[in-house]
Order: sequence, then structure tokens, then C-alpha cells
Amino acid sequence: MATSAEHLAAQQELERKTAELSRSAALLRAVLGATTDGILVTEDAGKITSFNDRLAEIWRVPREVLAAGDNRRLLEMAAEQSGDPPAFLARIAEIYETSPPETYDLLELADGRAIERSTRPLVLDEQRIGCVWSFREVTERMRAEEMRARLAAIVESSHDAIVSKTLDGVIRSWNAEAERLFGHTAEEAIGQSILLIIPPERQDEEREIMERLRRGERVEHFETVRLTKDGRRIDLSLTISPIRNAAGRVIGASKVARDITDRKRTDEALREADRRKDEFLALLAHELRNPLAPLRNGLEIIRLAGTDANAVSRARAMMERQLAHMVRLVDDLLDVSRISRNKIELRRARILLSDVLSSAVETARPAIEAAEHELSLALPPTPIHLDADLTRLAQVFSNLLNNSAKYTPRGGRIRLTAERRGDQVAVSVTDTGIGIPADALPHIFEMFSQVDRSIERATGGLGIGLALVKGLVEMHGGTVTAESAGPGKGSTFTVRLPVLEESLDPGFPETPEREADAGRPKRRILVAEDNRDTASSMAMILKLAGNEVHAVHDGAEAVAAAERFRPEVILMDVGMPRLNGYEATRRIREQPWGRDIVIVALTGWGQPSDKSRSQEAGCDAHLVKPVKMSELEDLLTSEMRTPTGSSRHRS
Ligand code: ADP
Repeated sequence: MATSAEHLAAQQELERKTAELSRSAALLRAVLGATTDGILVTEDAGKITSFNDRLAEIWRVPREVLAAGDNRRLLEMAAEQSGDPPAFLARIAEIYETSPPETYDLLELADGRAIERSTRPLVLDEQRIGCVWSFREVTERMRAEEMRARLAAIVESSHDAIVSKTLDGVIRSWNAEAERLFGHTAEEAIGQSILLIIPPERQDEEREIMERLRRGERVEHFETVRLTKDGRRIDLSLTISPIRNAAGRVIGASKVARDITDRKRTDEALREADRRKDEFLALLAHELRNPLAPLRNGLEIIRLAGTDANAVSRARAMMERQLAHMVRLVDDLLDVSRISRNKIELRRARILLSDVLSSAVETARPAIEAAEHELSLALPPTPIHLDADLTRLAQVFSNLLNNSAKYTPRGGRIRLTAERRGDQVAVSVTDTGIGIPADALPHIFEMFSQVDRSIERATGGLGIGLALVKGLVEMHGGTVTAESAGPGKGSTFTVRLPVLEESLDPGFPETPEREADAGRPKRRILVAEDNRDTASSMAMILKLAGNEVHAVHDGAEAVAAAERFRPEVILMDVGMPRLNGYEATRRIREQPWGRDIVIVALTGWGQPSDKSRSQEAGCDAHLVKPVKMSELEDLLTSEMRTPTGSSRHRS
């Protein structure tokens, strides 16, 4: 029997234990209440054992619902918020069924919150009696992670190289563009010193930049040079910003690098174009002003000369020359600008290369003769047809011939050759002139390009002739190239053009020019002229036009040759050694065979007295040198229409 004292002690012990127990329970509740996670303890899928306030908060479920201990009600309400209730409930059922030792899930709720859930079994006396669920709201962390992923994607896809490094200059990140630009892969670069991409001579620069970054400064649009893996130096614009940790301390730097090699090249090209434009304008002003002084002088001479016909005609000739020069400059300018705007239309037709070349020689002849150059020609024996614009192609070759005349010291040699090469014809203009330095050759066809302004100044030009040549040749589907063995060694310009095959296009219509040409009678012509260059170039042009030509250099020879050669036409220079042109004409007219020959006197002066003298001597016509071929052609056409059979010149 227990004594009352024993009873009391037992009573007290029970009370103490009870107090201890309820303190433990209160402590447990307090601990649950103090944890930052929402905690839920369940005995089975249907019953809640305990929970804390944070759980009610996270799931936005009234405390009373939880306090009632009905887990099914909680699951219903939570599932509703989950955005996908069936999946949510299925997962809970799976956890209860399989009772895994530990699970983690990330739930994205319909309202945008992110909840991390973990479950562990609740074990008492080695027996699993339920589950402990903890829930943590990780919305902020999720957002930060998303942001980081998004930023990483932006960095990766950026067209700038983006690199980050520590304050000690150790590379920490390296995007795809950095790989492309510098040639090192991210694997190779990360962990290495940033000096990897800094050229040795620029390493001080890096130290300075690091100093500024440590002070928290940003370096913007810093243009510099960096090194690639294969040793190339590239122009970059850098923007470097300090990277701070959460405490605001600078812990490294991010570097955004943009490749400005192309931009630099474009800038340089723009500057160069601008410089050339300025130079060109100065040159243009100079070139256009040049002829103005002689023009004004000419007017003055005409005013003062009064009745001195000789002086007036000389002034007029000079003014015409100057005006023609100006017109040519302006025409070239307009043509070049039309080509560069694609405004030139070719009037293509089936034409003969020899027609193109004879027209070009005709145009360039005065310049070639003035400089006393010797011009020689070598053309293929069979006619070559082109599908081309005769005027424009003639412009090409007369430009090249004029250049050769200009850039060759007096008394040089110019060769014009054409050679058939497969389905192309290569026409070359070669001179014994000042040549072209190797470094200038690649630019010679660019607009406004001139090798040595001091020389071109003296010759007068705008540096657009070759640009025009190139443009026109390319419009014809051809190419033009320049060669020179160097200064003083002469130059060769070669134009290659596609040839029109006879057999390929049998029904090709003849052009009006060709018809006229074909109808033009081929004549036997004697050229009597003491200046050998003038004689040979004139003979050449006449031959190119299809005539049979013989040239002699004094009056006595002229008479002898006329007898042998029996020409239909004689072009008779008046001032010649041994016998002058008048005397030679007289002697020819005395012969029976000489009466029907058309004799055209060529003189330097076209005064009425000269004309009457040549008429008296028996000349049919009188032309003033330099003779324009078109003029001569017109004259011959009209003269030769005179009916033959009755002699026109009877002594
Ligand atoms: P320009 O009006 O100056 O003659 P072009 O475009 O015709 O202009 O020629 C460009 C430059 O090419 C010339 O200024 C000259 O320096 C060089 N050049 C052209 N043709 C020759 C040549 N036959 N021999 C030497 N240099 C030449």
C-alpha cells in the first residue's frame, strides 16, 4: 500500500512530468512557428498532425481549415492554386504511395509565385508514422535565376565580344563572339590572364584601365588594338565597366569589345574619297580656268586685229582648240557621272573593230602628231565584228591613244595592236612613255586617280579618262588592264572584248553605219606630205577605212608615184621640198593619165588667195590642215560623183 507521502511524491512527479511535457509541446510549437519555411506534418493522406502559421500563409488557407486537421481540404485548396490540379494531386498521391526517403519539387503557382517543396518521412521508434512537408517561397530566387539565364542568353548571342575578368585580370567569362573575334574558345580563355589578347606594346594600357576600374570608373568607347589567337592585330572599341558584389565592392570588370576594323577601313576610305574630291575640285577649277585666258586673249586679238585676216584666223583656230578642250573635259565629266549612275545606254550594233579603231586614231591623231610620236598599227588579217556601240568604243581607244600621246616624251612610239584570242579580241595600246610605278597600277582606273600631279598638271587632265575607259569597256562585257615595267619603261593598256561570231548570228542586221560604210567606194589614194608622221598616220587612217594608199614625201616623188600608182585621189601638201604641191599638180595635170585624178591641196592656211592659187594650179579642192576625215570624206564623195569619161582638167 502506498503511503500518502509516496502518493504525494508520485503526484508531484506526475505534475512535473506533465509540466515538462507541455513545455516541450509549447517549445515544439514555438520552433515550428519560428521557422521561415511552412511546415506540415501529416499522418496519412487525410490527416494533418501539425502545421505552422507560415504554411497557412504560403498556401493562403485559413488557419481554421488546417486546425481542423483535414488534409484533404488543404490539398484541394493548394491544388487549385497550382495551375494544374490533376498533376499536383497525382504527385502527392505518388509520394504517399511510394513514401520515398526524400523528395524535392519546384511548384510554379498560377499567381506567379514559386514554391519549393520537400518531403521526408516522419519516423518514430523505427516506424514510419507520417510525413513532414516543408514549403519555401523561392519566387525572388527564381526570378533572379531566370534573369541570369536571360542575360547569359543575351551575352551569348551578342554581336559584341563580352568578356569578364577579375581585378587580377583573370578571364572569368567569354562569349561566343569573343570566341569568333579572338579565336580562343571559352575553354581555352577562361582562367587565363587577359594579357592573352593584349599585344605586348599595349600592356601598360591594361594596367591603367585596371586602376580606373578599381576606383569604380567606367571606360567607354576606348579604341585600341587587340591580338587574336593567330597573331593578327584587330581594331576594337572597348567599353569596360566594374562588376560589384552584393556589398558594392568592385570584384572585377566586364569588357564589351566591338570589332571596328571595317568601320576604320570605311572611315579611311571616306577620308580618302573626301581628300580626292577636294583635290579634284581644285584641279577641275584649274583645268576649266586654263582655257579661259587664251579665249579672252583671242577675243582681244580679234578686236585689235581689225582687218588683219591672218591674225584673226589664227586667233580663231586657237580659240577653237581651247574650246574643244573645255568641251571634252565637260563631256568626260558628264559621261563618268552617267556611268557611275548607270545612265549611259549603249547603242549596240554589229560593227567592225577596224571602224572603231580608225575613228579612234582619227580623234587622237592631232595629239599624236603634235607630240611627233610615231604611230604604228597591227591588225588581224580578217575582219572582226563586235556587238558594240561604235562611238563609245572609239572613245575608249581614243582616250588610251591620247593618254599615250600625253604621257610619252616628244618623239616616242605608240603601237596599236589587235589580236584575236579565242572568242575575244585583245586590243593593246603600247607606248614608250613615262610608264607607271607598280604601286600606282592597281589604282590607275579609279576615278580622279593621277600618279604624279606635277606631270598631269602640265599635260592637263582630270584623272577621269581611265575611269571612263573602264566603265565603257565593262558595259561592253570586256575588261581593261594596265601593265608597265615601271617609270620610264612605257605602258601597255589592253582591252579585251567579246567577238561576235559570224556563224552564231547569221541573221544579224547590218547597222546603218555599216551600210553606209559598205557602200563607200574603196579608192586608190596617194598621200604627198613631207612630214612623215602626218603622212603615215593619214595613210593609216585611210587604209583603215578600206582604201588602197601610197605615201610619198616630196613633190617630185609625188609626180613619179602618180604615174606608177595611178591614184584616183591625191592629197597634196602644198609646202614640200624639191617640187612644191602646186608645181607637182601642174605636172600631173599635163599628163593624159593625170587629168581625171581628184587632187586635194592641203595647206596650213585657208585664205582666199591660197584657194585661188591651188585652183589655178589645177587642184579640185583645198583643205586646211589638220584635215578632218569626215570633211575629206564628204569632199571626195561629192568630187567623185563628177561623171568620168570626159576629162575634167584639160590643159
Ligand atoms: P588624266 O586626265 O590625268 O590623264 P586618266 O584617267 O586618263 O586621267 O589617267 C589617270 C592617270 O594614269 C594619269 O594621270 C597618269 O598618271 C596615268 N596614265 C594614264 N595613261 C598613261 C600612260 N599611257 N603612261 C603613263 N601614265 C599613264
